[in-house]
Amino acid sequence: MKIVHKIEEVKACIKEWRKEGLSIGFVPTMGYLHEGHESLIKRAMENDRVVVSIFVNPMQFGPKEDLASYPRDLERDSSRCMENGADLIFHPNPEEMYKEDFYTYVDMSVLTEELCGLSRPLHFRGVCTVVLKLFNIVTPDRAYFGEKDAQQLAVIKRMVTDLNVNVEIIGCPIIRESDGLAMSSRNSYLSEAERKAALILYNSIKLGKQMMKEGERDAAVLVSAMKVFIQKEPLAKIDYVKAVDAMTMRQAEKLNGTVLIAMAVYIGKTRLIDNFTFKCEEGG
Ligand code: AMP
Repeated sequence: MKIVHKIEEVKACIKEWRKEGLSIGFVPTMGYLHEGHESLIKRAMENDRVVVSIFVNPMQFGPKEDLASYPRDLERDSSRCMENGADLIFHPNPEEMYKEDFYTYVDMSVLTEELCGLSRPLHFRGVCTVVLKLFNIVTPDRAYFGEKDAQQLAVIKRMVTDLNVNVEIIGCPIIRESDGLAMSSRNSYLSEAERKAALILYNSIKLGKQMMKEGERDAAVLVSAMKVFIQKEPLAKIDYVKAVDAMTMRQAEKLNGTVLIAMAVYIGKTRLIDNFTFKCEEGG
């Protein structure tokens, strides 16, 4: 496995692999890898070669967000990549990705107007811009994204369709700790008490799923029950809990088709996200 920092080094490597007719899978990450990331790498092994990018992308962080404190550990990440069979790590610094005269951005409407897009106004511009750049550098056949970031996955799929990017986007299930907390690099911020409190996200998901299974189709009733449940946890502060159409990310009063129920909740100062998708039966 190789670790490279320059765009040209990635391109040279890809060129060699392409000469040999090899297929390429790509897993974009911000590093501090955990089993969620590892599940994407494992899935990407269905390609002949696997590239993992590790880049804490400044463009997708707001001015008051955790860019500076975001956890980083390249050594540990390299071992995890190697253990899971990755062939190349691309670890650029911000100056390599964004030259001083960088003026081009990818913006998206509709899908970015709710959920995290509402609380983090320029977040998806940063995500789309960096992911499109990475796609152009790595030119993968397939790229792997977690359903943990459900809005991001929908946005990337839409970008690839809208801009005719020649890559297949593969969504992978949420990997959880044994007690149900969705794995996240940001879980490392949590104190012991906060770690316990963080379970409220998963428990509210269990409640929401149960209500949907029992036939609840009124978005306001569902969301309100989940919010009331979360508010019982003193360390939790809700950013949002919403039910949206899984394709458009638009809110609906009556739930039908495939629905995404997504949330962002602060546990202390740490903002955590989680979600589930529910397919309502025809006519349900
Ligand atoms: P990040 O490093 O947080 O930007 O995440 C990189 C990729 O890993 C994204 O596609 C995430 O959705 C995915 N990911 C992060 N956490 C998980 C998880 N717990 N389960 C599945 N995928 C995840």
